[in-house]
Amino acid sequence: MNSQPADYEPTRHRDRGTWLVEFTGRVLVVCPRCGGRALVVPLPGVAAPKYFSELLFQPRRLACADCGVVANWMAEERDGGLVGAVPGTEDPFFRRPLWLQTRCAGRNLWAYNEAHVAALADYVGARLRERRASPTRSMFARLPAWMKTAEHREGVLAGLATLTALAQLSAPADRSDAAYERGDGPRHHGSLYFRGRPY
Ligand SMILES: [Zn+2]
Repeated sequence: MNSQPADYEPTRHRDRGTWLVEFTGRVLVVCPRCGGRALVVPLPGVAAPKYFSELLFQPRRLACADCGVVANWMAEERDGGLVGAVPGTEDPFFRRPLWLQTRCAGRNLWAYNEAHVAALADYVGARLRERRASPTRSMFARLPAWMKTAEHREGVLAGLATLTALAQLSAPADRSDAAYERGDGPRHHGSLYFRGRPY
């Protein structure tokens, strides 16, 4: 009767310890000049990091294909060390509003990039969630409660589908109504620890 392989469990989610930082290698942001979609990526020529945590210290470049604006970011030096970026609800490097934002269940649903959206959809769509990873680092363990409830499952999945569609758009006129708000993320620079409730 059951033709599915034994390990086919579409509704089961296993947290392998995915960390929000993993998605900071590519961040879609609102362009500071034209209001379209710009991209924040490691500076060309920078070696791939050995550890995900290094992503918070690697030089970045913001570039907009629409208007041509380019900006660079370097980690600040302080007391002989580098001060890394802090992941939050804005772009962690240039502090630009994220391009991938939409209103959902009265809250703001956001993501750094397409892979981030897909990872969230896998988690939110699962009926059974296995938690094995450290709750202090795990992106999924740190998700706000409203995103985890069965009541909001369909709404959040619809919101994530909206973000997937937004990722394909880049014109200033395509900017999400939710991508204007600022100041809802951690404002603190200079700490290596998460503040607030980024996910
Ligand atoms: Zn632009």
